[in-house]
Amino acid sequence: MGIFKYEKITCPAIGTKITLENEKINVPNNPIIPFITGDGIGIDITPAMKDVINACVAKAYNGEKKIQWFEIFAGEKAAEKYNGDFLPKDTLNAIQEFVVSIKGPLATPIGGGMRSLNVAIRQIMNLYACIRPVRYFDFVNSPLKNPEAVNMVIFRENTEDVYAGHEWAGNSTQAKKIIEFLAKEFNTKIRPDSGIGIKPISEKASKNLIRKAIQFAIEQNRQSITLVHKGNIMKFTEGAFKTWGYELAENEFSKYLITEDDVWEKYNGEQPKDKIVIKDRIADNMLQQILTKPEEYDVIATMNLNGDYLSDALAAQVGGLGMAPGANIGDFTAVFEATHGTAPKYAGKDMVNPGSLILSGVMMLEYMNWEKASKLVINALEKTIVQGTVTYDLARNRDNAIKLSTSDYAKAIIKNMEVI
Ligand code: NAP
Repeated sequence: MGIFKYEKITCPAIGTKITLENEKINVPNNPIIPFITGDGIGIDITPAMKDVINACVAKAYNGEKKIQWFEIFAGEKAAEKYNGDFLPKDTLNAIQEFVVSIKGPLATPIGGGMRSLNVAIRQIMNLYACIRPVRYFDFVNSPLKNPEAVNMVIFRENTEDVYAGHEWAGNSTQAKKIIEFLAKEFNTKIRPDSGIGIKPISEKASKNLIRKAIQFAIEQNRQSITLVHKGNIMKFTEGAFKTWGYELAENEFSKYLITEDDVWEKYNGEQPKDKIVIKDRIADNMLQQILTKPEEYDVIATMNLNGDYLSDALAAQVGGLGMAPGANIGDFTAVFEATHGTAPKYAGKDMVNPGSLILSGVMMLEYMNWEKASKLVINALEKTIVQGTVTYDLARNRDNAIKLSTSDYAKAIIKNMEVI
């Protein structure tokens, strides 16, 4: 049935592929969904996520729909199975063929020769938009006085910036060559022992990302889109991102969008209900704004590095990384994953919060238009947190909380599911 011949994995005998039809995804009742368990705490959170997603689908659709999970491999498990290959062709082919997949975190050694597998998957599959919703759940501990004001969705460009992987070590032949070339051609003065990294920001990738963010804001009736950049310093990369964002808004979405200046000049300081405001903020200021005035920010569009910083900072405001889901989406292919990494010190201890990956699963169900099931999970998760039966991270600093293991927390969420 497949378009690829797989070397070391076997597609489930039951189940049907999600396909693309007229620029829309077509989801059968028994879709085959590839999953990667992941390194570190992947072995704790991935089974918990699968249990919760299976339970909500069964409950929402009375057994009419069922996901057929298809295990594929990346990271340490892949290296064992595929003779040291951390990201086998089988895995990339399955992600492409089955359109929607979900993964646990993968480890990246710092400063070693290996580049991030997560970044590689996003770049190879051109999953150019990393989408990370951040919202507050009642009773979760937060360093903010009014954490309920945090309700943002970050759109982070996934394929460029200093993450593109064009980087050479200090004193390497390549770094020296680049330094000499720049000195000769452009009279630049860079210390000869410097490591060199290149920061490409293209009009095409920036506009693809910003377009997705604007379309989302329109579809979801959001209030504003903020372009976050450091364009005052990096004028032709981050500054250009801002310029291209406003240009795109004017050329393609002028019916829906107005600028902050328009609000004052054309609408007397009152944002009309049927218009979305597009604005921009410098990245360092934005990190302050999300703490001091979170209610003023809604959809955020930014480049790779800023998006990474903002995601973790915002996650901390609503309960930490254990509550932070995400998705990597291209034109159609989508890989859902938590914001956090492998948290190695907790690996295999059945202790961490699976909420991040469960909420990534919720995003996956929404992407598949299985909202009846996704709503069941959200309601059950809210209820479980209110009851104070939570994992260590949410029990920390909360009076009378009952600390549950990862697997028991998943069971508590399943128990709290009610058909709506
Ligand atoms: P991390 O794995 O994100 O963990 C940092 C801290 O966040 C943990 O020590 C823990 O804080 C908290 N945390 C993370 N996940 C949690 C969960 N499910 N429940 C509760 N708390 C959670 O960051 P790291 O230790 O810097 O990175 C470890 C490895 O992961 C690195 O190799 C990195 O490259 C990789 N990484 C992978 C991805 C990915 O797969 N997409 C993303 C980021 C990093 P407390 O100890 O304070 O409770």
